[in-house]
Amino acid sequence: MGNRNEDKRIAVLASGGDSPGMNAALRAAVRAALWEHYQVFGIQNGYEGLLLNDIRELTSRDMGLIINQGGTVLGTARSAQFQTREGLQKAAAILNEHRIDALCVVGGDGSFRGLMALSEFYKGQVVGIPGTIDNDIPGTEYTIGFDTAVQTAVEAIDKLRDTALSHGRIFFVEVMGRKSGQIALSVALASGAEDVLIPEERPDIEAVVTRLTKGRDRGKRFAIVVVAEGATLDAAHPVESPAFQLAEIIGKQIGQHIRVSVLGHIQRGGRPTSFDRVWGSRTGDAAIRFIKQGLTG
Ligand code: ATP
Repeated sequence: MGNRNEDKRIAVLASGGDSPGMNAALRAAVRAALWEHYQVFGIQNGYEGLLLNDIRELTSRDMGLIINQGGTVLGTARSAQFQTREGLQKAAAILNEHRIDALCVVGGDGSFRGLMALSEFYKGQVVGIPGTIDNDIPGTEYTIGFDTAVQTAVEAIDKLRDTALSHGRIFFVEVMGRKSGQIALSVALASGAEDVLIPEERPDIEAVVTRLTKGRDRGKRFAIVVVAEGATLDAAHPVESPAFQLAEIIGKQIGQHIRVSVLGHIQRGGRPTSFDRVWGSRTGDAAIRFIKQGLTG
């Protein structure tokens, strides 16, 4: 690797919800930085770990054998303290104490907001790598982990469909995505679902009822409806798990009990698809190139 450029010290962390492919991004960022002869430090457990001064130097070997692993080897967390002025000031002081010139964060929109808030107090470079299964970050068409999450949900629905078909059942399958319907839409398309309900539009109960009853009239004994976790009948009062509420309302109207399956966190984990590994690697490398060019924010 030649002589170290001791002048440039870079720190990396993962923040918010974990997503498959974050490891590929961290691995690429760390190794690209080492290639540039930068000194690289890993911060454990996101902004929470930064506030606890949980920071150590990383070598290329620390990033070995992780490209195929879900989750993140640096751990991740959500931090309430980091959202306060005092927390941000403390985080900046810790980064300065370690003489960190640039902070690179892989995470979702909340993590990016946190990074921008930090830059009010921390004068080093800040660069974000979009990593969340939700694919809900403006300014990029894709966020690391989305492809794997969709694939996992589609595989689960393929299994549920066997039961739906054999028993002549209707299933409402709830998928993740927070306030975004991106996962739900892709999962519905890829699994050939009968209908999909997303947060971006108020669920049209009547339309779903018509679709399901028409299908039944045509002799279709089963149906799969994908429900985004953020789909809500009343935006002012969102419910924890809308699939149960919608299944009850719609089930009553069609006179048939509707089964609900909430896929939950299984969508967040697992081995990243090749797409997420490649995208993670490319964006991790890009982050270091931005830093090299002196860019920030
Ligand atoms: P995902 O979308 O996958 O859940 P995320 O990055 O959006 O990931 P969040 O929990 O929204 O996850 O954000 C991660 C962390 O970023 C928060 O726990 C908090 O510490 C920090 N953060 C979010 N918003 C702000 C803000 N406005 N100011 C300071 N810190 C923030």
